[in-house]
Amino acid sequence: MTRRSVFASGAALTLGVGTIAFLSSLVRRRDQHRCYACQREIHSSVKVVADLPVGTATFCCLACAISEQQQIHRQIRFLSVADFVSGRMVEPESAIYLAGSEVNMCHQAHQQPSAEHQPMPEAFDRCSPSILAFTNREAADTMRRQHGGEVLVFNQLRVRFSG
Ligand SMILES: [Zn+2]
Repeated sequence: MTRRSVFASGAALTLGVGTIAFLSSLVRRRDQHRCYACQREIHSSVKVVADLPVGTATFCCLACAISEQQQIHRQIRFLSVADFVSGRMVEPESAIYLAGSEVNMCHQAHQQPSAEHQPMPEAFDRCSPSILAFTNREAADTMRRQHGGEVLVFNQLRVRFSG
């Protein structure tokens, strides 16, 4: 047992379950490879960085970040989104979005569950519907023709998913 985990378990015993939740939320927030909200692995093609009341957080995808927004009942300010084609992080307002297509990176990752990554239930999924960001309108249109969905600009996306 490391000194840190000895300290952690000591603190948890002293202060109770709330402390465990608090400590694990601190650890979660620092892991840049996992989504702040759902712990899914972050794909560079759909990554989102947002400003939350608790600080800057990285999400696995826009749908997940919007689910978080609905859960905390306040608008999240998106700082940057990944261009689906290049993985480059760009300003949210400058991107074109494809919502509701059949391409969902978070789901694809879940088709091969391992012992540590159990599949999520089908009924509700915070990463659905899929929302992809593009810097190139043609790329978004091509993806829509091949995989369905609807092309939206940032403000349309905001209005659509604000409720
Ligand atoms: Zn997520």
